[in-house]
This record gives sequence, C-alpha cells and structure tokens, in this order.
Amino acid sequence: MEWCVSMPKVELHAHLNGSIRDSTLLELARVLGEKGVIVFSDVEHVILKNDRSLRDVFKLFDLIHVLTTDHTTVTRITKEVIEDFASENVVYLELRTTPKKNDSIGMTKRSYLEAVMEGLRAVSTVDVAFPAHNVDAGSPTKSLPVNDMCNGPTRKKIYVRLLLSIDRRESTAAAMETVKLALEMKDLGVVGIDLSGNPVVGEWNTFLPALQFARENGLYITLHCGEVPNPKEIQAMLDFSPRRIGHACYFEEDDWKKLKSNNIPVEICLTSNIVTASVSSLDAHHFANLYSGKHPLVLCTDDAGVFSTSLSSEYNLAASAFGLGKRELFLLAKNAIEFIFASDGVKQDLRRTFDLASNKMD
Ligand code: 5GP
Repeated sequence: MEWCVSMPKVELHAHLNGSIRDSTLLELARVLGEKGVIVFSDVEHVILKNDRSLRDVFKLFDLIHVLTTDHTTVTRITKEVIEDFASENVVYLELRTTPKKNDSIGMTKRSYLEAVMEGLRAVSTVDVAFPAHNVDAGSPTKSLPVNDMCNGPTRKKIYVRLLLSIDRRESTAAAMETVKLALEMKDLGVVGIDLSGNPVVGEWNTFLPALQFARENGLYITLHCGEVPNPKEIQAMLDFSPRRIGHACYFEEDDWKKLKSNNIPVEICLTSNIVTASVSSLDAHHFANLYSGKHPLVLCTDDAGVFSTSLSSEYNLAASAFGLGKRELFLLAKNAIEFIFASDGVKQDLRRTFDLASNKMD
C-alpha cells in the first residue's frame, strides 16, 4: 500500500461532495445539530455507515448537500479534498461538482463555482496549478518544483481542473445553464461536463441538447454510463461518442462492441462498484477484460469519502484482485495522462513527472 501511495497518480473521476472527510461531515452535522436544523444522532450513523446500496448513496448525497451547501463550506471542502488527493501523490486531479442554486442563501450556480475556486486558492500545503490561480497552469512548469516521490524537501504540486456536473434531476434549461457557466469559465480551469446523479432518474434526451452544445463549443464530455441496466440509454450514450465514460457496469455484448470499436476510455471505480453492488465481486469486474484487451481505462475513486477509499487504495485493490505488479500499476497510472482533458503542455509536464519518479521506484 505504501508503494501505491508513493507512486504519482492521476484522478479523473472524483465528485467533490463525495470526497469529503468523515471528520468534516461530522463537524458540520454537529454545528447544524446545535442550530436545530438537523438531529445529529439521526445522521451520525448515516455518515459513518460503510456499506451502501446505490439508493442509499443518493440519499446520503441529499444529506451531504444539506451539510455543505453554503459558500464558506463549499470553499472549505474543496480545499480539504485537494489537500487529501495531493497528500497521496495525486499529481493531476479532475474534480467534478454540480453547480448548485439556492435562493434562500443567495447562491447561484456561478457563486457556487466561485466558492469552489476560492477553495483552490486557499490550499496552502501544496502548489496548485490551476489557470485561475497561477500563471504556469497551462504550460510546462519552469518555476514550480515537481513532486518528490519520497516527500523530500521540495513542495508537492498538483494540477487541478474542474468538470461541471449536470444532475439527472435537472431540466434541459438548468443543464444548459451549467454548460454556459462552464464555457464562461473555460479559460479559468473548467475543462468539461459530466452527466451524473441518480441513474434511475431523468431521460437522456433531456440532457442531450446541453451536451451537444457543450461539445460544439469545445468542452470535453464524460458520462456516467451503464450504472443500472438501461440498454437503450447505454446505446444512445455510446452513439454520442463521449470523450470518456464512467462505470460501464451493466453493459451487454453490443455495448462492449461499440465501446471498444470507438475506443472510449473508461473511468473504473472498483470500490464504488462493489460497495453499491453494481458489480457482484471483483472477480466478475469488467476491469480484467478491458485491461487484458488493452482498452483505455483509468482507476478512480468516485467518492473517496462516501466509499472510504483513496486512489492509492484503488491501485492496491487492483494489484491484489487482478495480480498487477508494480510495473503494471505504474504504467496504468502513467497512461491515464493520455485521457485527461487538459492541454498538451500539461500532459508533457505530467509525463516528465512520471519519468522522474520511475527512476526512484523499484
Ligand atoms: P457534487 O456534484 O455535489 O459535488 O457531488 C455529489 C453528486 O455527484 C451527487 O449528488 C451525484 O449527483 C453525483 N454522484 C456522486 N457519485 C455518483 C455515482 O456513483 N453515480 C452517479 N450517477 N452520480 C454520482
């Protein structure tokens, strides 16, 4: 496990509100309990519970959103989530979050996103390379030190890019509002759009116009695809040819054929899939087939807080479940660079980081 922590890693599927520390959630719940907004003892066990069905997960998100959705808290959780990923040597993070509107506290989708960006600026334990934050973030670094595998005297650095999520509960107009916000923030570190939220809610055609508009205007798209059996939607999503998809748990033969012939990279979230019982066991997980067929894939956490995991644990799990050695793990992590939504300059810098690290890994 220590080795997996020390290896540089790329995280491409992490939901902000799913990646919050339990200690922070408990603290926020206590404060709201004292204010009489919630009953702390009712929610404590929900936060600390470890096995959750997909249905439980979405109930938990409703609770988490009650706890987190004010500007100050959004800023705080963003800061902590980035620090946590950086502390386990994630060198590039695509963090996704659903911009939220809450009239009662004067929150707009834009002000929510600004609070996220404030969180990025608030990180002090590592250098955050983000266009709205510092000038180096779009091109290879000259001034900032690269990560040091052994936590040496140099400061760590993490590239962060944002994906704005459309929640499947949203209308076409609300989805379009998110896309327009992403376009306004395109030069400031927002690189793409994600479609997520409860997979049994909403219709593909509701989101399609906004996703098409996003793509026509240069945003990258990743879709939660095949989290529940829904053959028609899976085919429609694959026909859309997104840049990446997440999960792919309920794919049938035709879906695999289409995915493979279009070479669409898959964000694999092992722990999430097992905890939610979307896949019955690691032995039955599609990782093995995709990996042996050299299909593009990347290991991700999904919701490190909700599923009590970390990216290092996901690599460790892949090593034990699928018999991957250190060299395979390292190449798997490095290869994820090819599927990021940031510029070629960032890719080059990341390749250099991995090459430097490879000299130190045995
Ligand atoms: P947020 O976007 O509020 O920062 O992060 C939490 C949200 O991400 C959830 O409300 C949900 O919409 C989405 N999300 C997190 N994990 C999953 C998942 O495993 N599947 C799907 N479909 N959506 C998820």
